[in-house]
Amino acid sequence: MSESTLNFLNNWRAAMLLLTPISAAIGILIFVFYKIKLSTTKVYKAKYDLVSKHEYKFLLSAHVFIAGAIFFVCNTYEAEGLTHSFMWFWIRLFISLCIGVLYGYVALLMLKFYYPTQQAKRLKVYRYAPRVNPKTGNKMKLLSEEEEDAYLDEGMQAEEDVFSVDYDVWIDEDTGDTHIEKYEGRLHAMECDRCGFQTLKLEKEEITKEVSDHEDGELIKHYKCTYCKRIKRKTVNLSHEKSASDFKITESTKLIEDPLNMGAKVILIKMDIHISGGRVESYEFQNMVEAQKFLKEFELSKLEEEEQA
Ligand SMILES: [Zn+2]
Repeated sequence: MSESTLNFLNNWRAAMLLLTPISAAIGILIFVFYKIKLSTTKVYKAKYDLVSKHEYKFLLSAHVFIAGAIFFVCNTYEAEGLTHSFMWFWIRLFISLCIGVLYGYVALLMLKFYYPTQQAKRLKVYRYAPRVNPKTGNKMKLLSEEEEDAYLDEGMQAEEDVFSVDYDVWIDEDTGDTHIEKYEGRLHAMECDRCGFQTLKLEKEEITKEVSDHEDGELIKHYKCTYCKRIKRKTVNLSHEKSASDFKITESTKLIEDPLNMGAKVILIKMDIHISGGRVESYEFQNMVEAQKFLKEFELSKLEEEEQA
């Protein structure tokens, strides 16, 4: 083996020995930083927002750096064997890559399938833990969907009606002080650029140019704000490569209250919507009216974030 090859192997080993702890340390630091940030966030709503919006990204990046550290450390294995055959260098590089990617992939699977249920449980705790009135120190009470309307203005109610935003109203029963928290709703509606509420809804779609085998089509989406009635149009290109068919629960989907159970009060309605590809979306409602209203609004496209119209 030539001098230069031996030099290269030595440098390579030194680099790997240096990069392993750096990458591992960055991964651990990201994780520790996030944990400290979470534990120093005292307000439940702020905790909720941190976990729901940022936790996934923190965990994912921590795992990416750990995967990197695994790749680097595997590249230092059996350095002596290398002096006999350079082939071993490539084999080791390939195996290291496989192990690093495997770790990353398993971490990603855990984050995609195991983590969401666990995250949802914690979010529920943060959202429903009793709030305390800062002025009196009293525990506040969360109002039900029916009771809260009196405390929401018309725009807020319009947002709740299209399920784009969910407001929680907490009340101090002694003093009447209220505290309103805003949560993301179960369906997506765009923010209206006139009134500022998330009430811009797709009204109808009009195909202005049919998709052919070789040519793209064109579609005009008509949006209407359910609060200020603003109307907006947006032209969308329809690719001829895939024609996605949207799914809508039909008008005839109706919930019927069980006539045999008239005396009992429904306290919670759980709804699982199964979508092709094994995806399941779960929803909870406090009463039949809410659930029925939701079914009317439900369209698969509203589950996905749509770009600003
Ligand atoms: Zn509006």
